[in-house]
Amino acid sequence: MPDSKIIDIVSEISRMKRKKNAIILAHYYQTGDIQDIADFVGDSLALSQKAAVNEADIILFAGVKFMAETAKILAPQKKVLIPDMNAGCSLADSCKAKDFKKFLKENPGRTVITYVNTTAEIKALSDICCTSSNAVQIVNSLPPEEKIIFAPDRNLGNHIINQTGRDIIVWNGTCHVHEEFSLEAIIKLKEENKNAKVIVHPECELPVRMVADFIGSTSSLLQFTRKDPGNCYIVATEPGIIHQMRKENPQKTYLPVPPKDSTCGCSECNFMKLITMEKIFNCLKTEKPEISVNKKIVVAAQKPIMRMLEISQKLGL
Ligand code: SF4
Repeated sequence: MPDSKIIDIVSEISRMKRKKNAIILAHYYQTGDIQDIADFVGDSLALSQKAAVNEADIILFAGVKFMAETAKILAPQKKVLIPDMNAGCSLADSCKAKDFKKFLKENPGRTVITYVNTTAEIKALSDICCTSSNAVQIVNSLPPEEKIIFAPDRNLGNHIINQTGRDIIVWNGTCHVHEEFSLEAIIKLKEENKNAKVIVHPECELPVRMVADFIGSTSSLLQFTRKDPGNCYIVATEPGIIHQMRKENPQKTYLPVPPKDSTCGCSECNFMKLITMEKIFNCLKTEKPEISVNKKIVVAAQKPIMRMLEISQKLGL
């Protein structure tokens, strides 16, 4: 796109936002240009907290569908827009409501904790939601004898078991992006950059988590690079976060981990990257596509999300 067209789109988006009292919430995995025009950029927890409390009439979600659905559940009176309805999530898709109901029946008497990376229907079947920022703390906030089901990410689930030692049955779902990071590539990057620290998202597979200097949610990884005295990081999560890392500390070096298949470019989330500036412009202009969630599901799904937000607030997260 020519520079003049980009400037036109950016100024037109801000004009429409003011006129329509709209805000743009963007996830860290969006491209840098989208993060820069957003009113708020964050991970799933921070975006949910922002969606729950804001003065806007319209929320445009630059992220994937489950995030926009969460915003709609938390603010059902507002118009919630997503620039591309095809922006799904392989992890949310790995846990279908019909199969999950059966799983719950087969494993009764357990508190059901689900990652926010699920459909609204799955949230409606849950006791508490969590994100990778608060999952360990939420599990630890429950009485030690309480038995738990965790869904849908098996890697995050196993990380929580390692951290808490709790009795947890884990659903066997995965994120196709975080499973793609190559251990061999990390080892090679480490050999070439001896002082680099390996920072890893908990959705990554065990061998990748085992070589990590630090494991944390997207925002924890950002915080780590902000506070850590080091100057070079091997980053095993979706590389969109590196935009914020560079903005905050441009003097440091950030090395994205390549995927196992070096020809596929699949360390980037193809769903997140469906959102573009042009689609945001059109979406704000036409106020379509709009997210809708069945009213009964909204009521049922609000409880586990609100419980997550309440526990997070109590714990100062
Ligand atoms: S990175 Fe993985 S978990 Fe996140 S939206 Fe993409 S597919 Fe879903």
